[in-house]
Amino acid sequence: MVTPTPEQRRMGDAIDRLVSVEITGRGVIGELYAAARRIQEDPLCLTAAARLLEAVHKGDVVLLATGLPTYPWFAGEQDGPVGAATLARALVLGAGARPVVLTDPANAEICAAALRGAGLYVRPVEDALRLPTTAAVVAFPLEWDEAAARASAMLDRLRPAALIAIERPGANERGHYHSSGGKRLTDHCAKIDSAFAAARTRGILTIAVGDGGNEIGCAAIRDTVLRVVPHATRCACPCGGTVVPAVETDILVAAAISNWGAYGIEAAMALLLGRPEVMHGRDVDARTQELCAAAGANNDGPGLLDVGADALPGPLHGHVVDLLGTMVRNGIDFGRLYREPRYPWF
Ligand SMILES: [Zn+2]
Repeated sequence: MVTPTPEQRRMGDAIDRLVSVEITGRGVIGELYAAARRIQEDPLCLTAAARLLEAVHKGDVVLLATGLPTYPWFAGEQDGPVGAATLARALVLGAGARPVVLTDPANAEICAAALRGAGLYVRPVEDALRLPTTAAVVAFPLEWDEAAARASAMLDRLRPAALIAIERPGANERGHYHSSGGKRLTDHCAKIDSAFAAARTRGILTIAVGDGGNEIGCAAIRDTVLRVVPHATRCACPCGGTVVPAVETDILVAAAISNWGAYGIEAAMALLLGRPEVMHGRDVDARTQELCAAAGANNDGPGLLDVGADALPGPLHGHVVDLLGTMVRNGIDFGRLYREPRYPWF
C-alpha cells in the first residue's frame, strides 16, 4: 500500500485545487469536482498517483486511452494526447512503466507526435515491451465486435498493470459517442470502452480523467453531469440518450482541463516518490504541445492548429506545470521552514 502522509494529503488537496480551478468559463468543473470528491474521500490526483505507484512496477505495461475526434474534422484535439504523453513520461521515470497508448485510427499520428514531444521513443508494441523510455501507439478498432476481441487479446498478452483514460469519449447507454456539445462521434471513435470493461472484470486498476462529463469515467458522477452540464441529458443526435459514457472506472479525476488532471497525477507521483524530476517541466510541455499541434491536433479554439488546449494558449499550460513543479519541490520539504532555517547565514 502507498499511504500518503498527512502532509502529502495537504499537498494533494492543493494540487487538486490548482487543476480544478474554474478557468474555462464553462462553469461546470466546481460541481463536477465536488461530486467526484464526495465519492472519493481523498484528493483525486493523489489517490490516482498512489494507486498507480502500488500497481505499476518496472516493466509493467500501462494502457493510456486518449484522443477525441473533434467535429467536423473527426481528428484530434490537444487536450488528452498531451497529458497522456507527459503522464506516460512520468510513469516511465517514476515506475519504469511501458506505456501503450490506445486511440482512434485518425488520432494515432497525433498521439505518437505528443509522446515524442514528451521525450519517449515511439516504436511497435513488441519494441515498447522490451526497450526503456519507449512507448507504442495502437489504433484501436472502430467496430464493437472487433474491439472486444482485440481488448481481450491485448489484456491476455500485455497483462497491463493499469488503464488510464484521459479526455477519452465513451459510449452512452445507447452505444453512441458524443462531443461535449452532444454531436454524434460514434463512427469515428475506436471502441476502447471494451478494454475498460474487460479490465474491470479482471480486477485491473482503471483510472479516468475528464473535464466535461462526456468522457470515460464520468459515469461515477452521472447525476451531477446531467444536472449541471447544459444539454447533457439529451444529446444532439438521433439516439436520444445522454452524453455520459456508460463504462465505469475505479477512480475519476475531475479537472478544469483534462491535461491538467494528468499533470496533477504526475505531480502527486513526484511528491509521493520524493522525486521532483518525475513531473515534466515547461520546456517538455511546450515541445509536447508543439509537436502534437503540428501533427494535426487543434486547440479547441477557433479551429486552428495553434498550440494550447481547451482554447487556452500554450504558455498558460506551461505556467500550471511550473506551479505544480514548485508545489512538488516545496511539498517534499513540507514544514521544513519551521523546523530549520532555510538560510543559515541569516
Ligand atoms: Zn446521441
